[in-house]
Amino acid sequence: MKRQCIQVEKKKGEKIRKLLMEKGWLDTSLRIVSDESYLYMPLISDFPADINKLTNELPFEVQLTEHEFETQKKPKTVEQITGHIARYEIIGSIALLDHDEVNLEKTADAIIQVHPHVKTVLAALSAVEGEFRTRRFTLIKGENTTQTLHKEYGCRYAIDMEKAYFTPRLATERSRIMEQVKDGDTVVDMFAGVGPFSILIAKKRPSCRVIAIDKNPEAVKLLRNNISLNGVTNVEAVEADVRDVIYRYAGTADHVIMNLPHTAEEFLDSAMVVAKVGSVIHYYDITPESDLYSSSLAHIESAASKAGFTIESHSTRIVRSYSPHQFNVCIEVRIT
Ligand code: SAM
Repeated sequence: MKRQCIQVEKKKGEKIRKLLMEKGWLDTSLRIVSDESYLYMPLISDFPADINKLTNELPFEVQLTEHEFETQKKPKTVEQITGHIARYEIIGSIALLDHDEVNLEKTADAIIQVHPHVKTVLAALSAVEGEFRTRRFTLIKGENTTQTLHKEYGCRYAIDMEKAYFTPRLATERSRIMEQVKDGDTVVDMFAGVGPFSILIAKKRPSCRVIAIDKNPEAVKLLRNNISLNGVTNVEAVEADVRDVIYRYAGTADHVIMNLPHTAEEFLDSAMVVAKVGSVIHYYDITPESDLYSSSLAHIESAASKAGFTIESHSTRIVRSYSPHQFNVCIEVRIT
């Protein structure tokens, strides 16, 4: 179809596209056309007359003209292509298929078709396992790598999925914790991994001090890389078993993040060492639906009372479902 459009030199195209998007004048249902030298950006049919004023004021030349355009093809969804609800997560340029995903090849093809930035599709060969909470993977399609760069809430993370734990499924949770941290607080991230809690908090609360501890040397290598990648200067990366270094930070933390579900209970004594009076402990666990919070809360209460603290208040929530009858929960306690 013929449509009025803006003709602009290719190298200036992105500037104009952004400008037209901001103004709401670009017709995004039509595909931008290019020839050897120019781009043609279709305008909405009722674009305002003062578009001339705008184009005249630009420091480079653009033309208001007419061109032939085609409508944008709506990308199909993975489900439309495969015919079933596909389960996967995307980490940077890697898609990871869930362990119960059927027809791996077909789903991988569909993911690459729908998400062109995905260059690798992996399936896990194991559950998250061992002290470092890592997994083994097999390649289903694309480049054979477990390394990628993942963006989340304005931060960038170098990830190696085989060497250190990372899941994008906690993105909202990390942001929720960050919102609770106040300027000037000290945060101890006891099981920091590649740094997604620590770096987000440090970036959004530059006056905070964040101590990010992990025992996995590969995770800490990536954590250090991610600290510089995000230009944060208020995170101290510590490679250690948290129990061996916790006394260095005794009584300093306003927030203690305990993101080691399954075994966090074993580290509650360390959390009480580092916690200040009035601080909040963010405790993660995997619990059965028949006992979502009671047993975990009892463990926290017992560790707090052993350390001479009482629990002033607490809140509980399901973070995500873990298996048909188990949940990843967060229990937050304020201790005095
Ligand atoms: N918080 C990170 C995140 O959200 O991506 C990583 C969480 S991962 C579930 C738990 C991390 O705890 C792993 O990176 C593991 O290496 C680390 N870890 C396990 N035992 C530890 C210990 N005793 N001291 C310090 N870190 C430990």
